Amino acid sequence: MVESADQKQRRAWWRSTLISSILASLTQLALFTVVLVCPDSSMPSLLPLSAVALLVVIASGRCCKRRLRVRASAPAFVFFSIIFIWGVYIGVVRQVISLLMDIAVNSELLMLFIGLCCIMSVDPGHIKNDSSHLNELLESQALASEGPSEESVPSSWDMPYELAAQEISVPLQRIRYCRQCKAYVKGFDHHCPAFGNCIGQKNHVLFITLLFGFVVTEASYIACSSQFTTKTQTLDKTGEQASLSRNLAVSTMLFSLLQMLWQVVFLAWHIYCICFNIRTDEWIHWNRYPEFHLNVQPEPGQTSSATETRFINPYDKGIFLNVKEFLTAKG
Ligand SMILES: [Zn+2]
Repeated sequence: MVESADQKQRRAWWRSTLISSILASLTQLALFTVVLVCPDSSMPSLLPLSAVALLVVIASGRCCKRRLRVRASAPAFVFFSIIFIWGVYIGVVRQVISLLMDIAVNSELLMLFIGLCCIMSVDPGHIKNDSSHLNELLESQALASEGPSEESVPSSWDMPYELAAQEISVPLQRIRYCRQCKAYVKGFDHHCPAFGNCIGQKNHVLFITLLFGFVVTEASYIACSSQFTTKTQTLDKTGEQASLSRNLAVSTMLFSLLQMLWQVVFLAWHIYCICFNIRTDEWIHWNRYPEFHLNVQPEPGQTSSATETRFINPYDKGIFLNVKEFLTAKG
């Protein structure tokens, strides 16, 4: 029997989901093993060990995927990790938490699930991938009344825009090409593998809110699991059950702590980019986009005669206006 394209796609989806669930389980198992091997170690010494264990699992996972020629789904990995943390919270940590905190943590986790489903399915600002539509956008751009004022326009603004096969740069619309999605995206920031979608003009605010939600939820879980370990230590419970519960609480706390640390850095970088009105893709690849180029001619008497290209941001209107533009941007 010949398998249809739809069936093939469904089978590939199930396979990548299964691989992600295995990887998520291995990650948690690796952290649990670290806590099991070093039961009396303090948090500052467990943290770097856990980071190393995570890196080993990630590297081994990549190696195995390459050898077996299989793919994993990063969003599925995120989902399974949240389910695991939620499971440990309900089964272990929750028993020492106050009702108010319990409601708060469960609500935060539920909101994360809803937010994840939204960002994975929402349109980031895809535009039709045909030249006529792009030409329409270019024409409407030329007529746009809210274009940059003459004094804010750098000398490089007049540079012709190249509709190259891979990159399209239109001022204000900031339409870029996403290689993963094979689509043009308005206000393209980056392609997020963890959420399996582009981050563009239509979902950028949701992305930042979700990132903030992750940090808050992880901080809440760390506070709860820390409370659990402190209380179980005070009660001086013994036995396998108590030891297993405590190790689970500590290993998931380490996972949340590591996640939170890099997400705080990531969030800070995004906030910086928003404040200066530059997308993260533009921040990394500004060389690709002509509007960020300021060509400086060599001064008389200089030994080098080559024109120097410096970075300039034509979109930067000051922090207040930049943040306002980000919050009010519509697709
Ligand atoms: Zn994409």
